[in-house]
Amino acid sequence: MITEEMVIACCTDLAGKVRGKAFPATQFETRMKRGIGWTPTNVQITCFDTIAESPFGSLGDLVLIPDQAARVRVALGDDAPTEHFVLGDIYHTDGRPWEFCTRSILKGALDRLDRVAGLTLFGAFEHEFQFRDGAPRIGSAYTANGFRAERRLAQTLVAAMRTAGLEPDTFMKEFGAAQYEVTMEPSRGIAIADQSTIVCELVRLVANASGKEVTFTPIRDPAGIGNGLHIHLSFLDGEKPATWDPSGKHELAKPAGQFIAGILKYLDAIVAITAPSVVSYFRLTPHRWSAAFNNLGFRDREASIRICPVSDLSDVSKAAQFNFEFRAADATASPHLQLAAIVHAGVQGIEEELPTPDVTTDDLSLLNPSSLLARGSVRLPKSLPEALDCMLGSPTVIGWFPAGFADTYAKHKKGEMAFLEGRSREEICGLYEQVY
Ligand code: GLU
Ligand code: MG
Repeated sequence: MITEEMVIACCTDLAGKVRGKAFPATQFETRMKRGIGWTPTNVQITCFDTIAESPFGSLGDLVLIPDQAARVRVALGDDAPTEHFVLGDIYHTDGRPWEFCTRSILKGALDRLDRVAGLTLFGAFEHEFQFRDGAPRIGSAYTANGFRAERRLAQTLVAAMRTAGLEPDTFMKEFGAAQYEVTMEPSRGIAIADQSTIVCELVRLVANASGKEVTFTPIRDPAGIGNGLHIHLSFLDGEKPATWDPSGKHELAKPAGQFIAGILKYLDAIVAITAPSVVSYFRLTPHRWSAAFNNLGFRDREASIRICPVSDLSDVSKAAQFNFEFRAADATASPHLQLAAIVHAGVQGIEEELPTPDVTTDDLSLLNPSSLLARGSVRLPKSLPEALDCMLGSPTVIGWFPAGFADTYAKHKKGEMAFLEGRSREEICGLYEQVY
């Protein structure tokens, strides 16, 4: 059969989906200038393929321009077509960045970090996911045999990651049924979110190529184990690591402490973006090692921000190892939007010169709201509507995004919720598992 290679030019959108349009690979150079045509109302296509209330209707035209730096071409093997995709930015036809382009929004946040603090973000997303088919094997949590069951897939994935320019770190059989985790080495700026997008696409690609289906849904069963997304972050000042200060509180350099304080201060108003689906809130409950409060933990996996361990044994310097992870996130979000919200909140903390927060060491779920508040903590929103109200109630958070963004985002999410009306929690989990 004859065949011609095609490239998918794509973006991550408000639904956390990777959407795009493919063109013949021979056109790559011209498409770098011309882009592909895009439709504004696409941004209101929900994860369930319904269209939420849109300010654009049938009007308007945009272009999505590929970014060579986010191009992936992987040939898995003889009987699979070569995979080729590229992330890009969406512009108005006159060349202005489109207000709803998630990648441009993240660029704006990273520019603010540079302007305010002279820092570059350095980090990586750590993903958990589950295989959907086949009976999960009991007794395999963290085991070598659990890894072996997917060794072929893991090794293909690692090769694909490397080909795509990602530096693989680890792959493991996680605790949950048929649950695995993939990690990679950190990268800088926009690449942090691009590489998260790429690794999820590669996991799906490699799994599908061997006839398997995976899901990154936050939780498959309301009583089950969640699929977390941990966003590891640190800073560079030029080429120098700039997060660790042995004389700082919790060994955090001053701007890093302020940045964390900013995230925690605004967390209840940005969680609608970092954990943006109805099922996100089935997972963000105490005692799941997810995140239920806006607290900082020192190596504590119940905290929404955890200061990660450094080791004296490593070949990497302490200053370069030192990082913190944001845990109130899942893979139903656009990584670009997630990171934009986190960076804006962090930079806000730097601008407000907030003090480095205390770490919590006890079980916050045992405290009543007033004792919680006395500690400077709040319970995070318990549902998506509550989280959206919190976001819409914060003029500061709304102001970080382009005009009209927060309102349109909330309408998108309302459209998503409308599709779920009248369904049980189990049915809702089942639907999200299909689409993420
Ligand atoms: N599966 C947990 C979650 O839902 C995270 C477990 C871990 O700390 O790796 O977030
Ligand atoms: Mg994990």
